Amino acid sequence: MKKVKEMKRAILGTGIVGAALVAGAATTVLPYGDVRLKGPMGERMNLMIEHHLKATDVDYITAPFLEKTERGRRWQTEFWGKFMHAAMPFWTYTQDAELRKHIDFGFERICASQEPSGYIGNYPDELRCGEGWDVWGMKYTMMGLMHYYDGLAPSDPKAQKALTAARRVCDYVIGELGPNGKRGYHLWESGNWNGFASSSILEPVVWLYNRTKDKKYLDFATYLVKDMTEVEAGPRLLDLALKGISVADRNGYGNKAETHGGYVMKRNRWKAYEMMSCYQGFIEYYEATGRKDLLDAAVATCDQIIRDEINIAGGSASSEAWFHGIRKQHLPYERLQETCVVTTWMRFVEKLLQVTGDPKYADELEKAFYNIYLASLNRNADEFAAYTPLNGYRSRGHHHCAMHTNCCNANGPRGFLAFLRALFQTDGEAAIFNLYASSSESVFLPKLNEKVAFDIYTIYPAEGNVRIVNHTVKQMPFTVKLRIPAWSAKTTVKVNGKPVEGVKAGTYCAITRTWTIGDVVEIFFDMTTRAHVMNNHVAFTRGPIALARDTRFNDGDINEVFRRRSIKDGQAMDFAFVRAPSEDIWMAYSASLPIGSHHEHPDGRRPQTVFFCDYASAGDLWQPSNAYRVWFPMEYGPAD
Ligand SMILES: [Zn+2]
Repeated sequence: MKKVKEMKRAILGTGIVGAALVAGAATTVLPYGDVRLKGPMGERMNLMIEHHLKATDVDYITAPFLEKTERGRRWQTEFWGKFMHAAMPFWTYTQDAELRKHIDFGFERICASQEPSGYIGNYPDELRCGEGWDVWGMKYTMMGLMHYYDGLAPSDPKAQKALTAARRVCDYVIGELGPNGKRGYHLWESGNWNGFASSSILEPVVWLYNRTKDKKYLDFATYLVKDMTEVEAGPRLLDLALKGISVADRNGYGNKAETHGGYVMKRNRWKAYEMMSCYQGFIEYYEATGRKDLLDAAVATCDQIIRDEINIAGGSASSEAWFHGIRKQHLPYERLQETCVVTTWMRFVEKLLQVTGDPKYADELEKAFYNIYLASLNRNADEFAAYTPLNGYRSRGHHHCAMHTNCCNANGPRGFLAFLRALFQTDGEAAIFNLYASSSESVFLPKLNEKVAFDIYTIYPAEGNVRIVNHTVKQMPFTVKLRIPAWSAKTTVKVNGKPVEGVKAGTYCAITRTWTIGDVVEIFFDMTTRAHVMNNHVAFTRGPIALARDTRFNDGDINEVFRRRSIKDGQAMDFAFVRAPSEDIWMAYSASLPIGSHHEHPDGRRPQTVFFCDYASAGDLWQPSNAYRVWFPMEYGPAD
């Protein structure tokens, strides 16, 4: 006790005792509700919960399980599991009785549909576990059941009922497609995308092992991993990743790709959503067994995606497939940035952030969230788009499987969850701020056996300053880690007005001291607007935000060219904050820019004032008349 007192005195005496640059360590995701999102992001999320999740017609999405009329090998059975993936965590967060009523209603319907064999789905026996999306549907059903289990006390009879139902589904899959399965072929050979879709069941199989500790589920997971890594014509998710084969180039290694253009294919290893879902299973398996090469493959793949696919708005994929999207993002590619890819990407980097503690994953999550993710959600927060281009207009998605919904609308709510889970974490002894949004944190740090609390006050990323106030009642020493984004070249951090030394972009700034209630941490990020030039096109970012011109500003032709070589890559730009013309636009800026090709005329040589908004606000009316543009053509010269 005396020692502790001495230590406290020493720390108090020197003010800030440690401001170190640190790599991260593995963190644990906190219980939902420990972090409460406020401000504009909290309002968006709450509106989405109210208008989207609570308005989901659970009767409609569970009816196929009872009716069992599927003959077209479609994916009607994914919608309930996806709903539960967000609904149950958000019920834990909100404790909303109406949402819980919908959840319970759906859960009982799903359980009622379970056959004596354990099967939950809508395919006839002769089509089960084969072509199409039957295994994929069971994957989501297992996830839905385990989300229900996780949200209740383990002793709750309903929790046990959910876990038993999940076990029975898995037992059925093992019986049909396991090592001695009745179907006589391997699980990876079922379904679409060269085994990716079905093999992604690995994730809930490991979840089931974690919750039951029944070795047969770990054995089945091991069997799946073997097929996902060792079969020459199979998914090949290990060796191709570790050999550095980029995600768009993984066909032709033991498999023969089908011609691109269709929506669903038996072969091809380029489907973004399903591939990342398999790696999500790899990370779970690594956590359960310590098999590090699988984590390495997930990390390598994630790095390849960052390097080759993620565009300026944090989105990726054309027609749901990897396509070296970085170098093609200025072009009008088909069906860009599927929302399923966006939310799966956010889950993937959120999980890697948790496992590795590397802040670059938080950079990626932030970029995706504030740009493409929020862009995909409509103003009323009741619907997610399926595709969102970088240049064009936004619109509603399709109807899938003869139902009035689609995969993207079902996946959308999961994005807010990834943001919420990553915002604030702990490695057991440090308070780790990964993302900056108005919020309150009240969190138990197990290694200190103490609870800490904070409030974040900010309108970041509209502005670059963040104020964190320590709300912990007990005065005590601990470490606060602040993520400094890689894009923030010059960041200032202050504690109670005193600058902290050694703040470096792309790392955590760790501050160890004795914290007293009311202590204030201030962060000032570098929000310089920067130009990005690629293939004779230019785009602009401000902090994590991609900027766009939008026809609502009524400031001329948004497609007008920039003058040849008038702007250099990385150039700092002078963009001024202005009032938005409508409440739908979150951030608005004006800039005087070298636009227009008639510069042989003296008047045409002068710069033009045009307006920009954040990409998420662009095209927000979801109408063809409300066009927007992120990448602007620059003139070519005769020698180009
Ligand atoms: Zn989708």
